[in-house]
Amino acid sequence: MGLNVIMMGPPGAGKGTQASRFARERSLLKISTGDILRDAVKEMNPIAVSAKTKMDRGELVDDDTMVAIVRHRLTQPDALCGFVLDGFPRTVFQARALDVIMEDRRNGPLVIIDVSVPEDELVRRLASRRICSNCGTGADPFGRSTTCKKCGGKLVQRVDDDQAVVLERLKVYQHVTKPVLEYYRLRPTFRTVNGAQAPEVVARELDAMIEEAAKASIA
Ligand code: AMP
Repeated sequence: MGLNVIMMGPPGAGKGTQASRFARERSLLKISTGDILRDAVKEMNPIAVSAKTKMDRGELVDDDTMVAIVRHRLTQPDALCGFVLDGFPRTVFQARALDVIMEDRRNGPLVIIDVSVPEDELVRRLASRRICSNCGTGADPFGRSTTCKKCGGKLVQRVDDDQAVVLERLKVYQHVTKPVLEYYRLRPTFRTVNGAQAPEVVARELDAMIEEAAKASIA
């Protein structure tokens, strides 16, 4: 039986870090729509042209493009045993489309995790977040290193972590993505974790929650 997880939460909540770790430990495919778009931009893929302008402004890329990307990715063989989604769905339209995709898959429960962090803490975290300009790996936000631990590339601030863009992204999250939590809230597999805690504490609580929610859904 597969396991499918959606990691929800505002920008800076740590959902990407937790999604990567959980997927690695459970040998599940992690799908980050932000990473897919950033790779497409690097490769000058046609979908990237209009997406880049929106991403740089902190706006959302259109629903049809995002649903097509995720639908295509979920039909690849490495997605058959389950997935951890990071950054999707971000609108109620996308959540509805994912439900339709899941109906066809029938491979295990869909657990939805909301990583919750107060807004002032998010602004603080995003201002100091750095990623590798070469491989895209995130770095310890409060670390002193200027190079990537993985490949030695230069650590830089993401264009969309600039303060004005951060405020726009948080606004978009409040108005457009938060309603997705309401769309899922009454499901028996919806859980909230306090993302303001230390990453290892969040990880421990999250693992227990996902396990319990997945079991509850098949009991
Ligand atoms: P992220 O790395 O998840 O913060 O995503 C970076 C940017 O990519 C977002 O600010 C959006 O512009 C775009 N993006 C990523 N995922 C989605 C999505 N599911 N729907 C619309 N836009 C997205």
